[in-house]
Order: sequence, then C-alpha cells, then structure tokens
Amino acid sequence: HTCKDKHVHYLCYQPSLNKHSLLRLSLMSELRAAILDNQLELFYQPKLDIEQQKIVSVECLVRWHHPEHGFIQPDEFIPLAEQSGHIRALTEWAIKTALAQHKSWLKQGIELQMAVNISAVDLIDLKLPALVAQLMSSHGLSPHSLKLEVTESAVMAEPDQALQALCMLNQMGIKLSIDDFGTGFSSMAQLKKMPLDELKIDKSFVLDLNNDEDDEVIVKSTVELAHNLGLSVVAEGVEDLLTLNKLKGFGCDIAQGYFIAKPMTAENFIAWWDPVRLQQLISHGALHD
Ligand code: C2E
Ligand code: MG
Ligand code: MG
Ligand code: MG
Repeated sequence: HTCKDKHVHYLCYQPSLNKHSLLRLSLMSELRAAILDNQLELFYQPKLDIEQQKIVSVECLVRWHHPEHGFIQPDEFIPLAEQSGHIRALTEWAIKTALAQHKSWLKQGIELQMAVNISAVDLIDLKLPALVAQLMSSHGLSPHSLKLEVTESAVMAEPDQALQALCMLNQMGIKLSIDDFGTGFSSMAQLKKMPLDELKIDKSFVLDLNNDEDDEVIVKSTVELAHNLGLSVVAEGVEDLLTLNKLKGFGCDIAQGYFIAKPMTAENFIAWWDPVRLQQLISHGALHD
C-alpha cells in the first residue's frame, strides 16, 4: 500500500514499513547534510514575455544529486523537507543560491528576475521576511530582482499568517506570485487581500489546452480574472507552439514550459541564452530546438 501524504509520526507506527517508506525516512534525515554537502543544485527555467518576445525571468527549481539514489526530483523530497522542518534551511539555501547566480549573470550583462519557490511552512513561522531582507542587503541587490512563488494551497493553509508575511515582503518591494493556481480551492475573499503581483495558471489546465474545451474556458477566464485583479499572468506547462499562440490570443502575459525550454543547469542556461538566436527562434516558432 502507499505511504504518500502520511505524516512521519504515522509512518513510524506502521508495523511493516515497506522499502519505499524506509527510503522516505532515510531521505528525510539526510536532507540537512545534503544541503551542507552541496548535493542540491538549482536548475533554471526561463519565463517568456509573450508580447515582448523576451525572456524576463527564470524560475529556480531544486534538484538533489543523491550519492546513492541518484537524481531526486523536488516533488519527492520537498514534502519530506516540509514535514521534517528542513524546508527552512532549504529555502534559505535556494534564495542565497539564486541571488548569487543573479549577481554572476549581472556581471555577464544578463539581467533576469529570479523566481524562487517557497512553501507554506516558510510563511507560517514569519521569519522569512527578515531573512529575505538580510539576504537582499548582503548581496546588495534591489528587491525587484527576486520573486517568491508560493502555491495557492500554501497561502490558504494559514491565510492570516500568510497575509502578514506576504505584506511584509511586499513592503520590502519583493515580487510575489501565486503558483499552481486553480488547484488549491482558494477563497476569493482571502485572495483579493493578498499583495500579489503574478498569478501562475497550473500546468494541468495548460498541458491539454489544444484538445480540452473546458481547459480553454478555465484558462481564458483565469487570465481575465487575474488582469481584473491587476496581476500579470503566467501559463506553466507550455509544450507546443499551438498552445503558445492560444495563450497569446487570450492575452496571457508570460509563458513557461518545455516548448520554450526545460529547466537547465546554470551552465546549460548560459549556452542556451542568446538574445539574438532566441528572437529568431521565437519568430519562427521553433524555440524547442
Ligand atoms: P512548480 O513551482 O509549479 O514548478 C513547475 C514544475 O513544472 C517544475 O517541476 C517544472 O520542471 C515543470 N514543468 C515546467 N514546464 C513544464 C512543461 O512544459 N511540461 C511539464 N509536464 N512540466 C513542466 P519540478 O522542477 O519537478 O518541480 C516540482 C515542484 O517542486 C515545483 O512546482 C515546486 O512546487 C516544487 N519546488 C521546486 N523547487 C523548489 C524549491 O526550491 N523550494 C520549494 N519550496 N519548492 C520547490
Ligand atoms: Mg513555481
Ligand atoms: Mg506551478
Ligand atoms: Mg507544481
């Protein structure tokens, strides 16, 4: 049977821990050492401004190179980090790494806003705003170089605390994005109070946009909703040109997905990132090559 979504404590009382849940427990205890030991790496996925035909930002996505188990995806270990409390250290590491990368790219004349994912736990303990303030000033960066992406369900877990944290971040000038929108049952009453800059339509509505009329209606009306609330809209999961063109027709501002590029190492990103070539590829609709 599956051990997904169960709490650690519950797992410990299971009479017969299967191989998979044992792996989860050991990964959980190894995470802190993994951060110190440089086993984590950020990959960068470009966000394309559809109208300007320009890459304006990159989303920073963590990967774990485990010495025994190989490459581990975030969907596998982020929930473990959240349950064990290691997520705070991970978030701090991710923001630090993203800002250092941003500075290094700036030196090469590349200015891209860094979008870092944070989790519900980061919003609940209210230490995040002070940490972010400290990291921005120690790196000597202006606040608009950082965007924080927080999932709709994370915001709704503890809406009052989330609102407090987000307001503090917003006052510092940090940009805020609501991620996986449409999957978290948010209350519009709560949502409209949040000082957000961006809304990301969950990829589950975008992946099948060409074939599913319901998705089309959802995406179209979400773009409208976001614009009416004064937010810019990102569609994630854009895998082909037809989808990109549809999104353009709906007035969607930003596209992210495999059609533009998969998440890449910093090294591969630089090799991929060439404004002139990009411009040609975008206008010829062959960005994925
Ligand atoms: P997310 O923030 O919604 O990130 C988007 C996910 O969709 C990424 O998965 C990305 O690789 C994937 N994706 C992008 N374009 C496409 C596409 O065209 N098609 C498909 N099928 N997928 C696409 P990834 O990198 O596996 O990350 C999964 C989730 O893990 C993220 O979802 C985010 O919630 C979380 N995550 C990743 N890095 C971090 C981090 O540093 N901190 C925290 N708290 N969460 C993170
Ligand atoms: Mg995200
Ligand atoms: Mg998302
Ligand atoms: Mg997601």
